[in-house]
Amino acid sequence: MGLEWRVVKRSDRSFAKVGELYFSHLDLKVPTPVFMPVGTNANVKCIQFKDLEATGARLILANTFHLYLKPGVEVVEKFGGLRGFTPWRKALLMDSGGYQVFSLAAQFKINKDGLKFKSSIDGSEHFFTPEFVIELEDRFGTDIGMVLDVCPPYPATRSYVEETLNITLDWAKRSLEAPRRDTLALFGIVQGGFFEDLRVKAYEEIRNMEFDGIAYGGLSVGEPKDEMFRVLKLLSNVNDWEKPTYLMGVGKPLDLVNAVFYGVDMFDCILPTRLGRRGTAFTWNGKVVVKNAVYKLDDRALDDRCNCYVCRNYSRGYIRHLFNRQEILGMTLVSYHNLHFYQDLMKYVRQRIVEGTFEEFREWCNANWAGD
Ligand SMILES: [Zn+2]
Repeated sequence: MGLEWRVVKRSDRSFAKVGELYFSHLDLKVPTPVFMPVGTNANVKCIQFKDLEATGARLILANTFHLYLKPGVEVVEKFGGLRGFTPWRKALLMDSGGYQVFSLAAQFKINKDGLKFKSSIDGSEHFFTPEFVIELEDRFGTDIGMVLDVCPPYPATRSYVEETLNITLDWAKRSLEAPRRDTLALFGIVQGGFFEDLRVKAYEEIRNMEFDGIAYGGLSVGEPKDEMFRVLKLLSNVNDWEKPTYLMGVGKPLDLVNAVFYGVDMFDCILPTRLGRRGTAFTWNGKVVVKNAVYKLDDRALDDRCNCYVCRNYSRGYIRHLFNRQEILGMTLVSYHNLHFYQDLMKYVRQRIVEGTFEEFREWCNANWAGD
C-alpha cells in the first residue's frame, strides 16, 4: 500500500539490478541501488536538511533506540512525527533499535518476550517487545520500519546463533501481527550468523512472511570481509528477488559495489559522515586524508571528478586549514562531499547496470579501491 517496488533492469552477468521504490503516500520515487545517509538523532551529523537533499538523498535513516531515549516518542509525536519535527519531507527508514541495545545499552537481557535494557544515558530500565517497536516506528512517522531482531556477535557459537534465530523469527511473525498504519512498510531481517544452513533457513522463513522487503542483518559485525561476502554470495543464490533487499550497516564504497553485484538494493552506513568529521574524503581516486600536511598548498578540489558544491568552491589546502584550526566548517564540508560522493556512486552504478557494463566497473573498483 505505502511502498511499491519494481525492477527496471536486471544484469544478465551478475545479480545487479536497477529498481525503484515508490512511496505512494509521498508520491516519491527512489531509484535503487540506493544509499541512505544515517540520521541517528533525527539529524545527519553536521549537515542541514536542504544540503542533504542537494546531495541527491531521498531516503534517510533514523534510529528508534536513540530517539526513543531522547527526546522520546511523545515529543516527536507532538510535532506530527519526524517529518514535522524536522524539515525533512522525503522518505524515512527506522531501524528497530535491537542492534543499538546490544552495542550501546549499559546492560541488556534477551528473553522470548523481548529485550530488557538499561539506558546508558541515565541507567533507567526499558523493555522492547516486537509489538512495542512497531508502535514506536508508527508513532515516529517513518515510512519503512525494521522489525526487532537479535543480532549475534562475531564470533558466536552455533547453539547461540540458532537459539537467537528462533527468537528473531518468532518476533518477525509477532511484528506483522501488530497494528500499524497502512503507509508503514515493514522489512523482515535475515539473521543466522555465519552458518550457511541457518542463513538459508532464516531467508526462507522471512521470505514466506508478508514483509515489504528483506534485510540482511548481522553482517559487518567484526568478521573478516571474505566471510561477509561468503554469506552474501550464498544468499544471492537463494533470494528470489521479489522484494527489495537491504544490507544493513555496510559500508565502504568498494563494499557497496561488490554487494550490488550480489543483488543488494539498499544500504546505510555512518562512514561517509564519521570519516568526513575526521577529515577523510572518499573520492573516485580513493581516500584523501585532507588533514595531512601534504595538502597544505594543494589548490585542487577534494575530488576533481566531483561536481558537488564543496568541490566546486573549496580547495584541499583551505579545508586542511579548517581541520588544523578545529573549525567545524571543515567537518561539514568533507561530510557533505562524502554524502554527495556516495549518491553519485550509486547513480553511476545504476547507469552502468542499465548500460550492461556494471561488471567491468566493479572490476575497476576492485583494482583501484582495494586499499581503502
Ligand atoms: Zn565533492
